[in-house]
Amino acid sequence: MTETPKKNHHRARKRFGQNFLLDPIVIDNIVSVIAAKPTDHLIEIGPGLGALTEPLLERCPNLTVVEIDRDLADILSARYAQKPGFKLHRGNALQTDFAALSNQKPMRIVGNLPYNISTPLLFHLLTFSPLIIDMYFMLQKEVVDRLAASPGNKIYGRLSVMMQYHCQIQPLFTVPPTAFKPSPKVTSAVVRLAPHTTLPSRAVDPVIFERLVKLCFQQRRKSLRNSLKILVSETTSLSDFDVDLKARPETLSVADFVTLSNQLSALS
Ligand code: SAM
Repeated sequence: MTETPKKNHHRARKRFGQNFLLDPIVIDNIVSVIAAKPTDHLIEIGPGLGALTEPLLERCPNLTVVEIDRDLADILSARYAQKPGFKLHRGNALQTDFAALSNQKPMRIVGNLPYNISTPLLFHLLTFSPLIIDMYFMLQKEVVDRLAASPGNKIYGRLSVMMQYHCQIQPLFTVPPTAFKPSPKVTSAVVRLAPHTTLPSRAVDPVIFERLVKLCFQQRRKSLRNSLKILVSETTSLSDFDVDLKARPETLSVADFVTLSNQLSALS
């Protein structure tokens, strides 16, 4: 007979970015802003010991969780497997097919994310944005600041441009290290990301757009002219672009990057 793991008897694993939420006020605030409805299909990434899972299930029975840690998955399974709408996906969120998980239906995604994989995870989630209604995540505050940064700001970069291209970004509130156990070394923040139903500016070729943004911020100290030289043939005149090529990439808005990318697409 397998032994049922004791509630909350789990040693936090650093490699899985485990900082468990303990503060009931913070938990309540997060659950309130998510405002889940019984008809929603919620997906929680990294449910851990269920700090958010439990109150979310009370509001919305249709909840799928994605957990990489087998011990935690066993604890969650023992606790919630009997609930009719609860599904547990054991695995790595970075490799999860969220479209399959939601049966190709619209979903809302939430989670107190493992900070060590938050950036690649956000990029992975963007590939499912047509099916995502919104996302509520706890992240390092520094990452939330970068997500919401405006052009001209030192922290404005590839993450800001790519996420703002796809989503409306709404920083909600900060959370101190004392709200978690073990306490992280950094301040956290909760953010809402809502994929645009219609993109405010649309890149004709998303692959060119992604390459352009990546390249420009890899060489952020160089002017756009230098970055563009890598993307166009030697014979192409750079004088016809509608964006000031002497500018540094961090001064360009998302719409400017789209304009530039569409002009590049027209050349190829
Ligand atoms: N939601 C819980 C809470 O708020 O107390 C736990 C949050 S903890 C910061 C991050 C959670 O994500 C842990 O449960 C961890 O095991 C899980 N996790 C880490 N890496 C993961 C991955 N690649 N895929 C899925 N879950 C992951």
